[in-house]
Amino acid sequence: MVIYADNAATTQMSATALEAMMPYMCGQYGNPSSLHSVGQAAAEAVQRARENVARCLGCRPNEIIFTSGGSEADNQAIVSAAKIGERRGKKHIISTAFEHHAVLHTLKKLEREGFEIELLPVGEEGNITAANVADAIREDTCLVTVMYANNEIGSVLPVADIGKVCRDRGVLFHTDAVQAVGHIPIDVTENNIDMLSLSAHKFHGPKGVGALYVRQGIALTNIIEGGAQERGKRAGTENVPGVVGMAAALDEACRNMDKNAERVTALRNRLIAGLSKIPHSTLNGDKNNRLPGNVSFCFEGIEGESLLLLLDAKGICASSGSACTSGSLDPSHVLLAIGRPHEIAHGSLRLSLCESNTDREVDYMLETIPQVVEYLRGMSPLWREKISGNKQFILR
Ligand SMILES: *Cc1c(COP(=O)(O)O)cnc(C)c1O
Repeated sequence: MVIYADNAATTQMSATALEAMMPYMCGQYGNPSSLHSVGQAAAEAVQRARENVARCLGCRPNEIIFTSGGSEADNQAIVSAAKIGERRGKKHIISTAFEHHAVLHTLKKLEREGFEIELLPVGEEGNITAANVADAIREDTCLVTVMYANNEIGSVLPVADIGKVCRDRGVLFHTDAVQAVGHIPIDVTENNIDMLSLSAHKFHGPKGVGALYVRQGIALTNIIEGGAQERGKRAGTENVPGVVGMAAALDEACRNMDKNAERVTALRNRLIAGLSKIPHSTLNGDKNNRLPGNVSFCFEGIEGESLLLLLDAKGICASSGSACTSGSLDPSHVLLAIGRPHEIAHGSLRLSLCESNTDREVDYMLETIPQVVEYLRGMSPLWREKISGNKQFILR
């Protein structure tokens, strides 16, 4: 038995998405830029996909740019807003300390180009308020970029309130909504969002395709130069099967959102309640204000990597943080941002669920994870020293 509990890293593609893509993988192979019938059939498929994605987000089809994924959308949104700001002599950008690296590394690059980057602290619950953003906005602020929901600890940020503040103050607002789209309701118009990034493989669509919503009238800067695809804003022959699959997956996710969220939240809450009973453990992020599928814990006295390997051997696929940082020895920047000390941040575990996980799988995880944590602690001389009272516990 293999239990997949790493849906924040990627999801299984749905049968609906696969089925929608199949014709465009082989039979309908036209290039949407071609003027003949075969090309135009592909162009129409891309247009239908654009209309579908727009409907799910509450925007117009011509406000959707297809990209190679969430990372590219983040890069293009942030660089575009920076260029707009620069032309007006505004070079101050506000973000948070626990963004995805696609955002943080783009901001680092802009900092080297002379922009001033202000990363708001997110506090122990892993959140910020619209008032925090309002206080940070200055005359020369050109962009606020704040994620919709955090990929490691699941916090859902008050994006609608932040959007309102930014609109009132005339500052562009981008949100990395890669973890939120398809999972929680989003309306870019109601929420005053100027730019939003999404990625298909986080909601049961294919990998390597995503989209950037950009409100009409905001001038994009190209990341990829070449042909005139995507209104000249993103060159390269369209990933026709990809965008068709993404639209089908998003449509399905949005139609079933309430039902899925209710089911996944119930599984999540059982896991949180059960794992909280492990001594010297702590939940990361807020208990209630979090993504339906996110469970994130720190266990004192263990190494997250060892925990993952042992869980894998027992058929549980989990993560210790973001897939992008695993492989490096630095603890997650997200856990450091919420104030977890290094040694605690190293003992982290993220389980991210989807609607195909079952109660039986949760039972198995609740049986297995406490045993594995105890086993690892038993092997650690440091932990034995702590237990014998020579050292202080950090967690409870
Ligand atoms: C996965 C993820 C990304 C990157 O998306 P890709 O399509 O894999 O490039 C960006 N931001 C967040 C919050 C993510 O979870």
